[in-house]
Amino acid sequence: MSVQARAKLNLTLDVLGRRPDGYHELCMVMQSVQLCDVLEIAPGEGRVSSNLGYLPTGEKNLAWAAARRFWEALGRPQPPLDIHIEKRIPVCAGMAGGSSDAAAVLRELNRREGDPFTLEQLMKIGGQVGSDVPYCVLGGTALARGRGEVLTALPPLPRCHVVLCKPDFSISTPELFARADAVKLRRRPDTAGVLAALEAGDLEGTARRMYNIFEDVLPPRQAARVTEIKHTLIECGALGAAMSGTGPTAFGLFAGEEQARLAWAQLAETYQDVWLTETV
Ligand code: ATP
Repeated sequence: MSVQARAKLNLTLDVLGRRPDGYHELCMVMQSVQLCDVLEIAPGEGRVSSNLGYLPTGEKNLAWAAARRFWEALGRPQPPLDIHIEKRIPVCAGMAGGSSDAAAVLRELNRREGDPFTLEQLMKIGGQVGSDVPYCVLGGTALARGRGEVLTALPPLPRCHVVLCKPDFSISTPELFARADAVKLRRRPDTAGVLAALEAGDLEGTARRMYNIFEDVLPPRQAARVTEIKHTLIECGALGAAMSGTGPTAFGLFAGEEQARLAWAQLAETYQDVWLTETV
């Protein structure tokens, strides 16, 4: 039986400061989309495989790490399960693909074992695998604080169309955090405004306020590419556009499918990695 692992977007991303333990204190509004990886979990030899040759196959794969943590928490020896991942979520794109696979493994193993863990317990086990995993276990629209693991479910973002575009450069996450520490941020997301708009079921008000502080700390050439993608999305009728996570994927939210298709087609003329999806 196959299991879906959905990608996430950051409607907002703010770094509130550096903590005594060296981690950054984050404040993010997260949203799941229908774009997903598909996992098959079946009795086998304890292997992980995927349609992408370069992904780790052993314990470095987050799906495998999640399975190990699940059986550890249950206090039972890990049975030899094979996990195959059909990757559709772009890798290293700021969309929590690996974390989402880990969360899907936790949810599925819990279901198969007759729900020995509550959702909260499962999220806690997920936190041992990675800081985005608890959110991926929860899914939907949520506020994430701390390192990303302190979660509050929010009123769902009204359903809308999403166009995602990943420019072909990669950004190192530690480098982005270091740059955020070093500069004075010129702009911060209006998180309170986004929360109020979500409460009011206001898609336009939410989309208009989306922002990610990492957009401001990208090196100039990369920032220009993200800005260009955002402009195209807005010109085609997006209600708002932002970069997700540590990038480089930028996305736009659309009320109508026709405008979203137009944006997809326009971006696909220049970029190879462009997707059309919907919020969950
Ligand atoms: P985030 O948004 O949480 O920062 P990301 O989208 O930037 O994540 P991922 O695609 O999750 O990044 O993968 C980042 C790294 O994790 C890659 O170097 C990859 O090799 C490794 N990895 C381990 N397991 C997986 C998996 N199941 N799927 C994708 N990447 C994985």
